Amino acid sequence: MVERPRDPHRDERRSRRSPFRQVTEFAAASGVGQKAGIALAAAGLVLTVTVPVTSPVMASNTGASGALSAAVQPDVTAAAAAKVDFSRTAITTTGDPDGKLKQLLSAQSVGSITRAASAGTLGAPLDQLVTASPFGYRVSPITGGAGEFHRGQDFAAQCGTAVHAAASGTVTFNGWHPFGGGNRVVIDHGNGLETTYNHLSSASVEVGQKVSRGDVIALSGTTGASTGCHLHFEVMVNGDVVDPLGWL
Ligand SMILES: [Zn+2]
Repeated sequence: MVERPRDPHRDERRSRRSPFRQVTEFAAASGVGQKAGIALAAAGLVLTVTVPVTSPVMASNTGASGALSAAVQPDVTAAAAAKVDFSRTAITTTGDPDGKLKQLLSAQSVGSITRAASAGTLGAPLDQLVTASPFGYRVSPITGGAGEFHRGQDFAAQCGTAVHAAASGTVTFNGWHPFGGGNRVVIDHGNGLETTYNHLSSASVEVGQKVSRGDVIALSGTTGASTGCHLHFEVMVNGDVVDPLGWL
């Protein structure tokens, strides 16, 4: 059966748009949405493209946004990082600030939690979060080599800045990290979720100590493999690091 066009101009318009539509539909279907959108924009084919990120995995791989990807830079001093335009302040919650996290962790296995569900469940480890080097592959600020996997999110902070527990939990490590973290504190939040705080100038907690969300646990520094004062913050799920920005 052949469909008979009622409005030839409409079909003309449709056919003119179809190559672009095919590309975006392919991009969305194959999960390369954001990259395809950026590639199209870069090629000058379109001025504005909005292709939805199709999965939390994609969001993680692309660094959540172009702005974050564009902010890739080595570990930096607080002075340089102060120019980074992306910042957030700590969100204070009345009642039980850990409630959302507890609910999330009790509802499902921590390994199956999506970025959409985890966003906002951890508190900010610094009063002001100024992102520096992001989680994931990057050029090493120490060796200059490409393809180094950066296990956490760096936040610019002058040495001596108060570092807060991202959620309530138990301190499971406080000491020297032999693999570059310098003075490091690890907090176990239960259900396979841990956070770590690195390059500290000093820590004010002991192993076994229970801490509450927002407690000052340490002061930031530049100990270990670090080129300037900042906080290297990690989130671990069942022992594997994940993008901390997916939890803040
Ligand atoms: Zn780092």
